[in-house]
Amino acid sequence: MGGQVGRHAVVLGGSMAGLLAARVLAEAYDEVTVVDRDELTGAEHARRGVPQGAHAHALLAQGQQTLERLFPGLTEELSSAGIPMVDMGEMHWFLDGAPWRPARTGLIVASVTRPFLEARVRTRVAALGGVRFLERCDILGLETSANRRVVTGARVRRHAADSGEETLRADLVVDCTGRGSRTPVWLDALDFAKPEEERVKIGLSYTTCEYDLPARPLKNDLSLIPLATPNSPRGAFFGRVGGDRHILSLTGMLGDRPEAGLRGFLDYARSLPIPGIYDAIKDTEPVAEPVAIRFPASVRRRYERLTRFPERLLVLGDGVCSFNPVYGQGMTVAALEAMTLRRHLLAGGPPSPLRFFRDISGVIDAPWDIAAGGDLSWPRVEGERSAKIRMVNAYMGRLQAAALRDSRITGAFMRVAGLIDPPTALLRPGMALRVLRHSWRRPGGTGAGRGSLPAEPAATSARRR
Ligand SMILES: Cc1cc2nc3c(=O)[nH]c(=O)nc-3n(C[C@H](O)[C@H](O)[C@H](O)COP(=O)(O)OP(=O)(O)OC[C@H]3O[C@@H](n4cnc5c(N)ncnc54)[C@H](O)[C@@H]3O)c2cc1C
Repeated sequence: MGGQVGRHAVVLGGSMAGLLAARVLAEAYDEVTVVDRDELTGAEHARRGVPQGAHAHALLAQGQQTLERLFPGLTEELSSAGIPMVDMGEMHWFLDGAPWRPARTGLIVASVTRPFLEARVRTRVAALGGVRFLERCDILGLETSANRRVVTGARVRRHAADSGEETLRADLVVDCTGRGSRTPVWLDALDFAKPEEERVKIGLSYTTCEYDLPARPLKNDLSLIPLATPNSPRGAFFGRVGGDRHILSLTGMLGDRPEAGLRGFLDYARSLPIPGIYDAIKDTEPVAEPVAIRFPASVRRRYERLTRFPERLLVLGDGVCSFNPVYGQGMTVAALEAMTLRRHLLAGGPPSPLRFFRDISGVIDAPWDIAAGGDLSWPRVEGERSAKIRMVNAYMGRLQAAALRDSRITGAFMRVAGLIDPPTALLRPGMALRVLRHSWRRPGGTGAGRGSLPAEPAATSARRR
């Protein structure tokens, strides 16, 4: 394969977006070089260039299905390696301490750590003919034609002592360097306009510990996920990620976060609206001290609104849009963008950047509306609330409350949250009627008291032991 579109493509950044881009570029270029500042080969822990790798990472159902299309057999490979596979609708989701009615959706979520998933995907990409990794190498800038309209390569410097700057000549450069992407700065230097940037400031924190829990407190490996809401703003993701290893990420909004150290971590876990998570970990030492990351704002760069852009340059992944991570969308959107790139390459010529950006904006719109729109339901999150956003958020509040009673609603919500169905699926008349019917009932009829766990709760069993 390869060679139909060009001789050499260079991918800047070897994280998930870069790997997925390399996967599809290898079908169209003779050689693909993936450049990253980190040592990638053999990396099985969170890398310096991807600090979010230490925190809980869900691969949404759409991401799982798309990765399976790109890497046939990957799901089975993960499962054979002992990674729990769970139905998205049966994970234990809680709203303000009350459990959502579970639903069998058939949407599989691999409960895997981020470094493990990335390592498996990287191994698959490395096995493709024509792909090579240039590791421990800094990306410095772009090389262009004399008139600055066409990108002809990238300037890099290897970390090895006395390495000088070198140029990688390329027929296409794809920037996958994440949130810190320098493309806006490079555009400015080349006399192109920078993309408009939309930001939703959320002041989010993630604080994470891993535990070895041989008692396996999560029955059937179903995670415990108290969703953060304006009423109970502290959230968590707690799940088994293979063997006895469990990961617990605690989330805080608008500057809220645990005090430093293990004591602070435990206190925060105890303050969650459900008791099961604290009960499962309180008597066990974590594998290491808590690690924390801050995520000040969701950012969307509107490349699709530009009218001029250098030829032979694309941007993909978090560099275009980085979503509030609690929605778990980043890797899935990167996978969908890679599929868009594949479609453009199938046309047989170098992709047109502006057409590519227009097409991926269609991929980004729904997840951005879900995440950025949803965050505006928090009164203290700054941002303009259009009539549509206010109406949708009011409806979503009712829908989420109705999911405490109605598994059909849980199932429909999971299909949208898993990026399988568009958000409009939740507005269809049949669904709206169900939501309305439940809204008319008095609250509290869920069959489970606030703060209690679902029938046969895993964490409760742990407490009884
Ligand atoms: C706390 C947190 C939790 C998250 N949870 C989820 C989740 O549950 N599900 C999900 O799908 N997504 C999640 N995400 C988002 C997800 O991590 C990203 O969407 C995903 O990694 C794709 O990003 P990327 O490849 O575009 O960029 P990144 O992952 O940021 O990778 C950028 C790469 O570029 C390299 N690089 C950057 N600059 C240079 C340079 N100058 N020279 C050389 N190399 C460079 C870096 O080393 C790195 O390898 C989460 C994010 C955060 C912050």
